[in-house]
Amino acid sequence: MAVPLIQQIRVGTYVLKQRLIGVKRYPLVLMLEPLFRCNLACVGCGKIDYEDRILDKRLSVRECLDAVDECGAPVVSIPGGEPLIHKEIKEIVDGIVARKKFVYLCTNALLMEKKLNHFTPSSYLTFSVHLDGMEEHHDRAVAQKGVFKRAVSAIRAAKARGFRVNVNCTLFDQMTAEETAKFFDFAINDLDVEGITVSPGYAYERAPDQEQFLSRRKTKQLFRDIFKRQGACKWRFTQSTLFKDFLAGNQTYECTPWGNPTRNIFGWQRPCYLLGEGYADSFRQLMDDTAWDQYGTGRYEKCANCMVHCGYEATAVNDTLSHPLKALGVLIRGVNTERPMAPEIPLDNQRPAEFVFEGLVKTLTQKREEEEALGQAQTGSQQSSNAA
Ligand code: SF4
Ligand code: SF4
Repeated sequence: MAVPLIQQIRVGTYVLKQRLIGVKRYPLVLMLEPLFRCNLACVGCGKIDYEDRILDKRLSVRECLDAVDECGAPVVSIPGGEPLIHKEIKEIVDGIVARKKFVYLCTNALLMEKKLNHFTPSSYLTFSVHLDGMEEHHDRAVAQKGVFKRAVSAIRAAKARGFRVNVNCTLFDQMTAEETAKFFDFAINDLDVEGITVSPGYAYERAPDQEQFLSRRKTKQLFRDIFKRQGACKWRFTQSTLFKDFLAGNQTYECTPWGNPTRNIFGWQRPCYLLGEGYADSFRQLMDDTAWDQYGTGRYEKCANCMVHCGYEATAVNDTLSHPLKALGVLIRGVNTERPMAPEIPLDNQRPAEFVFEGLVKTLTQKREEEEALGQAQTGSQQSSNAA
């Protein structure tokens, strides 16, 4: 099963409770980025383009668990960078699982086989392995030969030891429906992964290759061409039926950026996992003080082509709860790949892109270094007074 039954029940109960008690904005998935350092340099990555002093920083175990408690989301996704580089990743994962939260440990799998014995198989832990396609395509996307083979070997080893494994696939402009279908068949029939998480790539302003990102129109057509292929009904996706329907152009959705709040070394990122346009000191501050209506397709230039799950899955989940019969209809009949597409949100009144990220990073790096120096000084003086 792509999503364990216990997770479906817990998340469903959580969402219903939030709606019943009238919470307007609630998180579904915490995106916890404990570091930005990675052992790959993929051409579509917008997460690793920092100087070494930032790449060397880590969220501590305490900071990670505090973020989980503060946020309260039932699911925690741990992307990066590469989380398996973090020396205390075992303690972070164990602490989250002990809180009965569902962890998706995202990895490029280079270190996964070696580190499997750090973890215990559980329905609360899923390895989410970055694989963008079959061997030639994936190795080109991650700019290194041999990565596909290592990822496949790690997936097989993890499955043999009873771990839950998903593949996390990002689609770029070079991918065809045929190649994607072949890869999905391989992931489900050969690797036997629990599920596939699929999304179009977001056009990160800091990604090295800017030519490869899909426009909204192309994204929808690509997903229609993928979903209409023979055998598509056998693919297990971790995402909701209505999110897939949205990808295929059948829903006009606005994004729900607070559905997947992001905590990283700079704080709580505004407004979402993909855009860093400000940082809050606490989760409450993020929820209460972010100018949410400034963001989303039709409102902000940088959001124009975004159809990524971290913005739209929460919208689809809310729609499923508001219109369960619509969701059931799509589930039974499959995603419609023929009818005219749903209207697109007009872009005429979107505000122009602002480029604030580099300035923010400078200020926040300085702030974090001052806090770390203060913490070290306090620990030092505590140790001297204990010794005395
Ligand atoms: S593996 Fe992930 S974090 Fe690392 S460079 Fe590739 S996309 Fe970025
Ligand atoms: S559309 Fe939403 S999720 Fe996508 S970049 Fe904009 S704010 Fe983030």
